[in-house]
Amino acid sequence: MAPRVVIIGAGIAGLTTALELHRAGYEDITVLEQHGPGYGSSGKSAGVVETQYLDRAGIHVRDFGLRFFEDFAREHGGTLVRSGYLRLGASTDDLEMFQHSVEIQQEFGITDPVVLTADEIAARWPRLILEDRPGGVFGPSDGHIDSYEFCLRAAAVLVTRGVVVHNGVKVLAAEQTPTGGWCITTTNRQISADVVVNAAGPWAQQIGRLFGAEMPLNNQLRPKVKLTHEEELDPLLPFVMDYVPGSGRDGVYFRSETANEIFIGIHTDESLLEEQDPERPLEEAPQEFIDRALQLLPTRLHCPRGLRLGRTWTGLYPISPDNKPIVDIHPDAPNVIHVMGAGGSGIQLAPAMARMAAELATTGATQSFPETNWSLSRLHGNDHLQSTSR
Ligand SMILES: Cc1cc2nc3c(=O)[nH]c(=O)nc-3n(C[C@H](O)[C@H](O)[C@H](O)COP(=O)(O)OP(=O)(O)OC[C@H]3O[C@@H](n4cnc5c(N)ncnc54)[C@H](O)[C@@H]3O)c2cc1C
Repeated sequence: MAPRVVIIGAGIAGLTTALELHRAGYEDITVLEQHGPGYGSSGKSAGVVETQYLDRAGIHVRDFGLRFFEDFAREHGGTLVRSGYLRLGASTDDLEMFQHSVEIQQEFGITDPVVLTADEIAARWPRLILEDRPGGVFGPSDGHIDSYEFCLRAAAVLVTRGVVVHNGVKVLAAEQTPTGGWCITTTNRQISADVVVNAAGPWAQQIGRLFGAEMPLNNQLRPKVKLTHEEELDPLLPFVMDYVPGSGRDGVYFRSETANEIFIGIHTDESLLEEQDPERPLEEAPQEFIDRALQLLPTRLHCPRGLRLGRTWTGLYPISPDNKPIVDIHPDAPNVIHVMGAGGSGIQLAPAMARMAAELATTGATQSFPETNWSLSRLHGNDHLQSTSR
């Protein structure tokens, strides 16, 4: 009999894993979602998909993600806006790292990114302020998806392929069966599974515990703000990221949505703030965040006239201890694959995480990204966690 897979969570991690498992030949797949597709972090994201990372492994998985979303948009429709991604450097060392990144990207067939000096950036986008920035790296083909829309479309595509997507069904408990599978209790009924995927985003630690797996996770609050302005911007701003990965500090980011709208947020890959309970109500952006964002923006942008605060919201980055995803089976919970912890890169990394999860389900090991280690054992020095993904 075909193995039955139950995926917990219809965010981007759960839905891309379902697509990858279906692609790998699994026929009996059920997705359980406590609310609806995209209810969690995936519906609150900036949706940026880009390849301006600094190491080969990070670039490979992001290139895979960008191509995945390109294929999905071509086959099933949906938003993929390629408005470009500009990562600013803080020093000439950063520009050297960026040049190295450009060379690695070329090896993957991504030929258009360039390192630009501050003058070259100012010539393209005269509104940017770069006095204390030597330059940056610009990927013209990078952009963003609408990750909430993606979740809705992906769920619809899965249903047409025979995958069962149950919305409004919360997983409450789990018990291992004598054959090594699981009996899952939900608010609706009990369901059995040969393989379980924990793709519960900020709730992944709670879900892990239901199966006896203690998963490391730190949820960090990240607000976003929309600004409107009367003066029309021409040219529009690409996505500008004033943060260098691994720098140990956060940075402001912003992009034009239309000629009269800017999105702004503050990003770091690291867990610098207080840990958040996933059940906390997610409200509008806190005033101190809005103040800080509005203080940082004019240091990087000659702001357009008639700037006004628009809609604001908050979401959670589900972050692992080293800011990289976890795709692995915990030794205390056999046949449960955890696909989680990608923090502020969970949209762009979801396709690679999903591919690795499907490989793990099929062969017990991951193959596609040999330079990527998203195992649990990397986090625990092999003391008590012998993981299977590498
Ligand atoms: C403001 C903001 C901006 C961001 N910008 C970017 C960006 O530009 N690029 C990028 O790559 N990433 C970005 N991210 C990060 C990205 O959004 C997340 O990493 C990603 O969405 C996590 O996806 P997920 O599927 O793992 O989790 P989620 O989307 O949270 O999905 C988990 C799902 O599990 C369900 N669930 C939980 N518990 C249960 C249960 N007991 N029973 C049934 N279902 C359950 C939840 O309802 C939820 O729908 C951003 C995040 C935020 C907050």
